[in-house]
Amino acid sequence: MENAVIQSLYNLPRERNSVILGIESTAHTLGIGIVSYPPFEILSDIRFKYNPQTGGLHPRLVTEYMVSNAGNALEKAITEAGIKSSDIDGIAVALGPGIGPQLRVGATLARALALSLKKPLIPVNHAVAHIEIGRLLCGKKDPLVVYISGGNTQLIVYKETRYRVVGETLDIALGNLLDIFSRETGIAPPYIVNGRHAVDICAEGGSFIRGFPYTVKGQDISYSGLLTAALRYAMKNPHAINNVCYTLREIAFAQLIEASERALTSTDKKEILMVGGVAANDCLHGKYFEMSKERRIDYCRVDKMYAGDNGVMIAWTGVLGYLHGLSVPIENAVARQRWRIDEVGIPWMP
Ligand code: AMP
Ligand code: MG
Repeated sequence: MENAVIQSLYNLPRERNSVILGIESTAHTLGIGIVSYPPFEILSDIRFKYNPQTGGLHPRLVTEYMVSNAGNALEKAITEAGIKSSDIDGIAVALGPGIGPQLRVGATLARALALSLKKPLIPVNHAVAHIEIGRLLCGKKDPLVVYISGGNTQLIVYKETRYRVVGETLDIALGNLLDIFSRETGIAPPYIVNGRHAVDICAEGGSFIRGFPYTVKGQDISYSGLLTAALRYAMKNPHAINNVCYTLREIAFAQLIEASERALTSTDKKEILMVGGVAANDCLHGKYFEMSKERRIDYCRVDKMYAGDNGVMIAWTGVLGYLHGLSVPIENAVARQRWRIDEVGIPWMP
């Protein structure tokens, strides 16, 4: 990524060399990334992803997993970067939104590191980090952001100092919908095989079933009624599972696209950026591609490698914060489970 491109995307007043270590632990992944700038360079990207064999994310089990891998992850990140810990200029950490116990693992690690290295601690909002790594890798200045992950489904635009949510799910997130359906019907785990979700694999050869709920309200959507209807149908008609998967996926994606089209019209944005774990979905990517072509909108999804949770996106957002002198006293670096994106000032927007 060239400096000139980055300078067109960001307002970065203090041009000084920075090496930032970013910590991600909001849900399932303990990620540690180290990024340097300028020039933008990913020095390391270490991930420990918790994959439950049954059920959902049990916070106690996930935190045990994260704690037991933290030392190892840190050591690997520094070794892979080929730096000394004294070369690090700041510690960035995703303080929220996310699941409390997991957030506290990252916050504790960050406080310990910032204290021992005597470096600033830069608080990062997880959703902002998904957007900034997407803006950077896609080179998008002012897009309508479609942020879709296990815990979030939001349509976001930047306006007057902040990112604003202009549409969202009224109940469960898109990733959650796909994951719960897969788990309850027994088509997963594993949820992802060769980069494809279990629902996509199961939808192959399926056909559309009429009568499932389709819910778009303004620029918001709802998925819980669709989940209930799909589970009920699958229970009664186990032989028709491919049709149910196909129908669930088509409705879920169509709802999101319709809400996005409405948001495009009302916000007048000319670009779409897709980020978050579910952005790795090729079927949804194809649908956004087609819609954008028809509407002559410039569309990009984040590199699949950085769609899911990772430490690199926290480190990069940490660089942006660091260059603007953003940091918090150690004692204020605490987990914020419900930290909404529109509470965060974005001083680096040009
Ligand atoms: P994140 O929390 O951002 O890491 O996103 C995790 C979510 O992304 C989970 O719900 C996954 O099931 C979902 N996910 C990952 N890869 C895919 C894919 N190829 N298609 C659909 N969903 C995916
Ligand atoms: Mg995420």
